[in-house]
Amino acid sequence: MSSNSNQQKQAVVGIVGGGLVGALNAIYFAQRGWKVELYELRPDMRLPIHRESRRGKSINLALSERGLSALRGTGLNLEKTILEASVPMKARMVHIGKNGTQMSQAYDVNGQHINAVDRARLNELLLDEAESLANVTVYFEHRLLSADLDNNTLCAETDGTLRRLRACLSSDGKKTYRNDFIIGADGAYSKTRTQMMRSMRMDYNQQYIDTGYCELSMPPATGPDGKPTFALDPNHLHIWPRHTFMLIALPNPDFSFTCTLFMPFQMFEDIKTEDQLLAFFQEHFNDSIPLIGEAALKSDFFGNPRGSLVTVKASPHNYKDKSIIIGDAAHAMVPFYGQGMNCGFQDVEVLHQILDQHGIQPHVSEQGVISGLEKALNDYSNTRVKDAHAICDLAMYNYYEMRHAVTSYKFLARKKLEGA
Ligand code: FAD
Repeated sequence: MSSNSNQQKQAVVGIVGGGLVGALNAIYFAQRGWKVELYELRPDMRLPIHRESRRGKSINLALSERGLSALRGTGLNLEKTILEASVPMKARMVHIGKNGTQMSQAYDVNGQHINAVDRARLNELLLDEAESLANVTVYFEHRLLSADLDNNTLCAETDGTLRRLRACLSSDGKKTYRNDFIIGADGAYSKTRTQMMRSMRMDYNQQYIDTGYCELSMPPATGPDGKPTFALDPNHLHIWPRHTFMLIALPNPDFSFTCTLFMPFQMFEDIKTEDQLLAFFQEHFNDSIPLIGEAALKSDFFGNPRGSLVTVKASPHNYKDKSIIIGDAAHAMVPFYGQGMNCGFQDVEVLHQILDQHGIQPHVSEQGVISGLEKALNDYSNTRVKDAHAICDLAMYNYYEMRHAVTSYKFLARKKLEGA
């Protein structure tokens, strides 16, 4: 631990959640000289025995300039590494009607595009980079149970399978940690957020939509040369809009597509048998059946989990200079704008820009104060809350656009005029 002439100690930030946003934030804080402790409830996802648990949890994601900018901000090779393993999506391909007619709608006249990336690979890359920094410690299988924010302490349950083997635990499997500043990057159901709400007047709103989702995989096709190839045009985000429900497909670098079926929960429940499933797909997504394969369709539909979709709005995002929430913990949104992770990454970039503007140093005084931090965090909340609320609303609107508006007569006519 370093100290300067005023007997100040190196500040310790505790980040709860080692998902995409928490892991990136750990890198940023370590780079500015803080000691970083990252607490993640899951086991280390990089261990081969834990890879299977990823099944059915949004395998790939659209990474846009908003997120890329934050990766670039680390000054590391993250952007290059992840883009090398991505598939650019320059347009959306709308699968109209039953006969499989497809219509390409470019995202941008100047060729700007989004990128399909592997969620797990991106998370692993961020964890690798974080752990390679000397001032970062990652505690896996640490579930935040409670926090005494005014006294800077966290209590975590640590009796996961791996932790149980270690002798250093207290007998009840709980451990207490002291940090100078606590960050909740622990997702939509954030425990950090609920702990903050006990101490402050945080406005909070949570809204579910009556739509669930299920992931299906579309394997590579075989090209004329006998080699694997994409079953659909790879440089598109494919959408089968059906007004109240839709199927989408994003490409993967291994020539497969990950498809996601979004529809009201009741419709999922009404499909009880394999025959009903096939009839439903023949009626609405007939061209996708040979590409997914009947057997895979049945096993994915009945075997994969059904996810729910929630919007979370909170204000403010900080509690004095004690804690802050970022990523889904602060602003979970429905996935239809492809911006949840991207916005979470941008939170990290904006937070550190504001810490720079306020000249925040990684030192804590003997009285436990990080000079200027409260003002900086208030500034962050004032800046970020309104943007977070706006993107949550845009994401909700885009559900309507993707499943319905892209098929409307006016929309298609406009696209035709634009030459799309
Ligand atoms: P999370 O990814 O939820 O990570 C939170 C972490 O905290 C997890 O590792 C969790 O294990 C850990 N944790 C939770 N509780 C505790 C606790 N008590 N103690 C310790 N650790 C804890 N976004 C995009 O930008 N583009 C897309 O294309 C896109 N597509 C999506 C598709 C679907 C179907 C869904 C559901 C979401 C999609 N998103 C997309 C949104 C994106 O997945 C989220 O915005 C992103 O994962 C948020 O990252 P996060 O790190 O804030 O939270």
